[in-house]
Amino acid sequence: MQTLTHWIGGDPAPGERHLDVTNPASAEVIGRVPLADTATVAHAIEAARAAQPAWRDTPPAKRAQVMFRFKMLLERDADELCVLISREHGKVLEDAMGELKRGIENVEYACGVPELLKGEYSHNAGPGIDTFSNHQALGIVAGITPFNFPAMVPLWMFPMAIACGNAFILKPSEQVPSAAMKMAALLEEAGLPAGLFQVVHGDREAVEALIDAPDVKALSFVGSTPVAKAIYRRGADNGKCVQALGGAKNHAVVLPDADLDNAASTLIGAAFGSAGERCMAISVAVCVGDATADALVAKVGEQARTLKIGPGTEKGLDMGALVNAAHRDKVAGYIEQGEAAGAELVVDGRRHPLVTQSPGYFLGATLFDRVTPEMGIYRDEIFGPVLCVVRVETFEEAIALINAHRYGNGTCVFTRDGEAARRFSDAIEVGMVGINVPLPVPVAFHSFGGWKESLFGDLHAYGPDAVRFYTRRKAVSQRWPARSAREQAQLNFPSS
Ligand code: NAD
Repeated sequence: MQTLTHWIGGDPAPGERHLDVTNPASAEVIGRVPLADTATVAHAIEAARAAQPAWRDTPPAKRAQVMFRFKMLLERDADELCVLISREHGKVLEDAMGELKRGIENVEYACGVPELLKGEYSHNAGPGIDTFSNHQALGIVAGITPFNFPAMVPLWMFPMAIACGNAFILKPSEQVPSAAMKMAALLEEAGLPAGLFQVVHGDREAVEALIDAPDVKALSFVGSTPVAKAIYRRGADNGKCVQALGGAKNHAVVLPDADLDNAASTLIGAAFGSAGERCMAISVAVCVGDATADALVAKVGEQARTLKIGPGTEKGLDMGALVNAAHRDKVAGYIEQGEAAGAELVVDGRRHPLVTQSPGYFLGATLFDRVTPEMGIYRDEIFGPVLCVVRVETFEEAIALINAHRYGNGTCVFTRDGEAARRFSDAIEVGMVGINVPLPVPVAFHSFGGWKESLFGDLHAYGPDAVRFYTRRKAVSQRWPARSAREQAQLNFPSS
């Protein structure tokens, strides 16, 4: 059993209080993670303050070289990282590799930082006046990340923040702490000076210390909506730039003309991949017409019953365990609640043999039909392997249903009709839309973000928005009048 440390100023730092880290596939305690207090967070801020000015003044091309080396090291140690992710989170190795690859895309994008930081320049913006604007680093910035993507979500944040000239403090989820420590070691090996990437593990105390620290200029948060809302408010009150990404309830609309075999197979992946513990997981299929619903439920039901479930570190499986006992029980509670509310339980994940035969936190795939909008299983984010089918009569009804939901992270439509698809992407009040693409997570050179209660803040995560988020703009106007020129005092507002 390993006792983890924080990573402060380039060194492991011991902890105060500790929490057990558990392998969800076996329920065994596999480690202990320290939980930082305010003094430990202050220690990390001090190390960041000492390191950041020289890094800010390092040419962006040199900063990018560290990211090039970091990318190669992530690829070299990808298998090891995936085992760390799978052992603490429960997801299958192939899925861990998927999240890591999507995370590495963000490092690749950050390698282009010299180009991304190029400002704008206007020669003779006024008589003899040149104006230029540039992006300057903020100083110290922090990220607070959820359990479900131990590598990818931190990689949405720190490569670009650091490449822009900032020092970054990561507070990863205390349930999955090891991937962050491995990435800290790889950044050191890549040549990043000490103090520019630090890891403080912890819970609410560590998070609040970061939000209240005047030296921390910006906070990126990803997690559940109630916490996102509270962090956004408190951070903004403290004068920080905050982006707080929250929860989700993602709908897929299935139109009668869709290729139903294809829709069913891709929905299986989008609903049950990573045991549904993805903020972009599809948790509701809105079927237009009873014939569409009948056919889709039959196809999804058949495949859902045959998914291969087991410990994520074993090869060739479809789905691993849920992250912890409390979460597995919460998801099982929703299944009970849906049944009691009158939804039709087509596949019951609680009946999967591993639920009783394994000490791990397993639950099989669950499919509900005839779910209605007032049911808790429709309204709430369940964050587990539960797919709800809602039946509607028209496409307009499907759009109105989605637009009325409080979350607006991702959505998709399955159709062969280009006109319908275009109408959908125009009218839908959701931040990320797929047309026959069930998990429309944008690539690293776009940005990621939901609408409504799925994101608090103005800028989305990663991509071009990250360059804006982790920098401040400065506009400089300059003139160099000839020594001989006599200038009259001018009291009216200058104009060209
Ligand atoms: P969570 O909100 O419980 O925890 C997220 C982070 O906040 C963790 O680091 C945790 O230690 C910290 N935290 C928890 N409670 C806190 C409190 N009261 N005060 C301060 N900090 C606190 O979320 P989770 O269970 O780790 O992750 C699952 C949630 O994250 C789901 O709701 C999911 O939809 C969401 N998520 C959203 C996105 C997105 O991009 N929108 C991506 C991934 C996950």
